[in-house]
Parts: sequence; C-alpha cells; structure tokens
Amino acid sequence: MWGIIATWRMALEGVSTSATALQAGSAAATSVVDAVVTVEDYPLYKSVGYGGLPTENGEVELDAAWMDGDTLAFGAVGNLIDIANPVKVAHALGRQRYNSVLVGQGAREWALSQGFTPKTMLTDRAMQHYRKRCRETLDKGLSPYDGHDTVGIIALDRQGSMSVATSTSGLFMKKRGRLGDSPIIGSGFYCDSETGAATATGMGEDLMKGCTSYEIVRRMAQGMTPQQAADSVIYELEDKLMSRFGRAGDLSVVCMNRHGEFGAATNIKTFSFVVATATQPLTVFRADRLQEKTHYQPVDDDWMQAYNARIRAPIEE
Ligand code: ASP
Repeated sequence: MWGIIATWRMALEGVSTSATALQAGSAAATSVVDAVVTVEDYPLYKSVGYGGLPTENGEVELDAAWMDGDTLAFGAVGNLIDIANPVKVAHALGRQRYNSVLVGQGAREWALSQGFTPKTMLTDRAMQHYRKRCRETLDKGLSPYDGHDTVGIIALDRQGSMSVATSTSGLFMKKRGRLGDSPIIGSGFYCDSETGAATATGMGEDLMKGCTSYEIVRRMAQGMTPQQAADSVIYELEDKLMSRFGRAGDLSVVCMNRHGEFGAATNIKTFSFVVATATQPLTVFRADRLQEKTHYQPVDDDWMQAYNARIRAPIEE
C-alpha cells in the first residue's frame, strides 16, 4: 500500500508528483518534503512560502514542520524570514538530536549556516493584498485575521513508513512573532507509522486548544476509522469552544492510517483536499459539513476553473 493526502487544492501539483514517486517506491519522509516545496515555490499561493502574505508589519514570517512516523523525530521552524524553503529547514532540523525547533533570528542564522538559500519571500502581489487588506480593515472593519490556508501533507510509503510536513505564512496580518499550530507538534501535525498521521489547517489559536492532530492519531490507535477520528475530534472541539469560550474559529483536518485509509473533517463551508493511494486515483475533493459529519465529493471542472481564475485574478487596490 502507499498513499498521500494533503490540505487544500493548492497541493495538487506537488501531491501528483509525489504520488508517482511513492508508487515507484520513494520514501514517505522525502515525498512529503518534495510535495510541500512545490507549494512553497508557487508564487500565486498566498499563504505558503514564496508569495505568502505578510504580518501586520509587512514582513513574511514563515512556519513549517516535518515529522518522521518511524522514529517520531521532528523538526520545526517558526517566524523564519527570507529563506527559500522553510520545510527543507524543518526537515534538516528533524535530523538533529537537539535544537530541533528554532524560531526567528536563530532559525534564520542556523539555516544560513547550513547553506540554505536566502530569498526575498515578499512578492509585489502579496504587498498588493496587504495594502488592500489594510484599507478594507479601516473602511469596513474587517477582522485582519480572516482567511487562512496551510498546506499539510501526509504520506505512507510501500515500506509502511509514514511522514507529515506543514508549511504556512500563518494568519494574514498576524503580529510579528506570532506562532500558530502549524509548527507545533501534536496540534498542526502528528505522525506515528504504527497508527497513522493527521494535519490541520484553520485558526491555530483554536486548533492548539484541542492538540488536534495528536488527538486524531490517538483515536485511530484506539480503533476509530480515520473519518470517525477526524469528525469526532473537530466537532467535539468546536462544541467545547462554543460552550466554554463562546466562539470557535475555522477547524479543518486530513488524516490517514497505516493502511492508507483516509479521513477529512471541517467546520467550514468548503474545505478542499487532495488524495491519492494505491486504490484511490488522484482526486481533489471538496468537504462540507453536514451537522456533525463531514461529507466530501470530487470537485467538478467548474470548481477547478473558478479556482484557477480566483488565484490569478488581478487585485484591485
Ligand atoms: N493554521 C494556520 C495558523 O494558525 C493558518 C492556516 O491554516 O492557514 O497559522
């Protein structure tokens, strides 16, 4: 068996290449990194890597993580500025015995010392979005934090090893130094090859309250299917946040078990994800909530065309 699953349509191209590699026998550990790199490098994806949206100070601070489900080794970077591929830095940190989570200036210095490529990650298009959002926030009182999209990718290889990686520019207009769930083990990602893996996207501040990815893997270990684990964790967390805190942010997850069975759950209207396994041809699904269950179906051509038009649309400043 082999398989790969990722949050959001933007992962399609990377997942497609890594699915072919996994089918041919590549390792999960490198397949997830390669797939995330494809997303990080694409300038029109405005929530990951190059072209990512900036903080309220106009700087692009990137978070990423990688975890190996065989050894439980993991590495993560937070608030990394102007290094080409944060997920590659996280992957390299995951092979260190100590200091495997680095943030800010320390993360940047370490990356440079290891030969990672410096690159200006702020694009003109991201700055246009930034100026537009600054104006809208003043004019219409929008929350600066609306809108998100982290890429999280899980792979299972033919040897039975699993891995997960995440990458994000975090919430748009976040404070300088803010970390979300994506570089936090157990919240934005978790992977254990004996059971399975999960990864999250949405409001990091709320996803962290449920240790969401770890909890999904734990429930799969206790016998739940990936879909049962994903649905139960997301809707229980949402209920708990509503009753105890009075509101709940966006919460979306994908997961896969060691047999290549997968699940997805969301509390928003449309959450897209991409999956390919030995028995499931490469497909982009759209997941929608129906009460306390998530339903998903393949997207159609109209959906894909609308998506392509949306990411390319000129930004009216
Ligand atoms: N989870 C990310 C964060 O809170 C945001 C996202 O999923 O886009 O930083």
